[in-house]
Amino acid sequence: MSQFLLRFAPSPNGLLHKGHAYSALLNAALAKKYNADLLIRMEDIDTIRCTQELKQQTLQDLKWLQIPYKQPVLWQSSRFHAYKNALNYLAKMGLVYKAYLTRKQITQFIKSQEEQGISWPSDPDGAPLYPGDDAILSKSQLQKLSDEKAPYALRLNMRRARQMLNSPLYWQELTPPKTSVDLPAFEQVDTIKTDPSAWGDMVLARKDTPTSYHLSVVVDDAAQGITHVVRGQDLYHATSIHRLLQHLLHLPAPIYHHHPLIKTSAGEKLSKSAGHKSLKELREQGLTRQELLQSMPSAITNNL
Ligand code: GLU
Repeated sequence: MSQFLLRFAPSPNGLLHKGHAYSALLNAALAKKYNADLLIRMEDIDTIRCTQELKQQTLQDLKWLQIPYKQPVLWQSSRFHAYKNALNYLAKMGLVYKAYLTRKQITQFIKSQEEQGISWPSDPDGAPLYPGDDAILSKSQLQKLSDEKAPYALRLNMRRARQMLNSPLYWQELTPPKTSVDLPAFEQVDTIKTDPSAWGDMVLARKDTPTSYHLSVVVDDAAQGITHVVRGQDLYHATSIHRLLQHLLHLPAPIYHHHPLIKTSAGEKLSKSAGHKSLKELREQGLTRQELLQSMPSAITNNL
């Protein structure tokens, strides 16, 4: 049995593009080099946007890419009970609260702060930090919202969570390879200090979606025994949150590698929403797997 376990974890809420292919192929190349198993986890917690068609297409793309993975595929939509348990555990520690502010209220609050010359901080994804309900709503307004069963998000009380840490938290990150010919080496790791406060009171779940990406990814990386999380650079800062949740939930921490993102020739990040071509479209236009591989860094082609 292999000592290492990797995973590729797409969200089938849209079609995969070249960036996903790079991530999946890099995982496959590393799995081969280190004789590790590679698992597929479908992050389909958004049960409305993750349609049957997109889920099937994602599996089809992985087949076309010839990603050798170990069955069975884990579907997050079948694991809501596990995320609920984790959420309840955090709630029992007094770390979760119901947050009622609407987007409009938050925007208005920030505008009023800025009018007073206070620049309001944003999280690493660019979203403004949650101001806290009591910054805007009175106790009776909050009570009314609760009585009316108004929609809410369940948020982490970051201040309290930080108080539970006796010392700074760190994560292990594979040292980036020096050239595009090399894969990262499992033997070379850097220690990175987390900065979870940068995220403020982040969302753990919503009234209608009983979990969030951050909560479920941490629960499942532990449940599946993942040793190395290899994913895009866009999730680098999210690792601070993941490490904090692992600490609070007493879960093991995998080693991370955040790989560079494949960009367009204009330097843009590939995205479904910006209309960049999906693998399906590229394939329908005649792209072969071999041609796709040739457009990838040679570390991948040399190691598949
Ligand atoms: N599901 C996430 C995505 O498609 C990736 C999660 C992860 O690798 O941690 O962006």
